[in-house]
Amino acid sequence: MPMDWSRFEHAYGSAADLPQLLEQVGDPELADEAWEELASALYHQGSVYTASFAALPALADIAADRIPGDRRLALLLAGRIVSAEQQVHEPGYVQTHYPDAVAELHGLTLQGLRAEPFEGDEEDYLYALEDLLAFEGVPVWRCCLLRNSYEVQCPACSQHLKIDLYAQPPCTRRLDPNERVRFIGDQGPPLTGIHPTVPADLPPLGARLYAMAVEAGQSTVAEHLTHLHGRATCPDCTPEFSVPQQIEAAVRSRTPTLRATTNPACHGEQ
Ligand SMILES: [Zn+2]
Repeated sequence: MPMDWSRFEHAYGSAADLPQLLEQVGDPELADEAWEELASALYHQGSVYTASFAALPALADIAADRIPGDRRLALLLAGRIVSAEQQVHEPGYVQTHYPDAVAELHGLTLQGLRAEPFEGDEEDYLYALEDLLAFEGVPVWRCCLLRNSYEVQCPACSQHLKIDLYAQPPCTRRLDPNERVRFIGDQGPPLTGIHPTVPADLPPLGARLYAMAVEAGQSTVAEHLTHLHGRATCPDCTPEFSVPQQIEAAVRSRTPTLRATTNPACHGEQ
């Protein structure tokens, strides 16, 4: 029985137009525009919808070459959708509802990460690692591996801080919670450094990702992972704290599906 797509919604309303879009991405003449429309309907500025998850089997079909379309784009779109799953579902939702598609997408992502050479730059590699964790149902870290700024709180004095892992060298910056919307990009001067962890001290998940990056020759990614798992010093009250613990606490506190209230002052960013 054909799927009734009108039961689902995407960013622009009813998903009844999805069969047509999924067909157009396989047509060389229409593919570029159709991919853009499809991605923007299913993963709209980081938001996901009922149709986004329902489209996973079709995206797996394209990624596995069973139906025509760009394999890499299908894999990337599926990865972004599942990375965003925790916005609306508890971890494990896609594995329960779309087990075959998710297992296949996981296998293809792993294959891509092990390919020599990897198809993409360092940021693409980190995105693929996030997607891998998403397909495995790992919470939090599926959206926190990139070389971004992460908003955290000092566990001792509750000062709002940015952990800037994009800066060279990575550093803390002060974050005024009242100004976070007004000046994106106005981030204040570097305050204290981030001390990377030594690889031997990485926790099991970090150690696994680090080993994959080293094996793939992704030295910048490997080094970044040691900062992501490093320690920072609070510029206000001076004690050291664990960067990954504070990132995890911040993500859990603002993600209702992760049901944690360890950091009640960080909220409202969804
Ligand atoms: Zn402090």
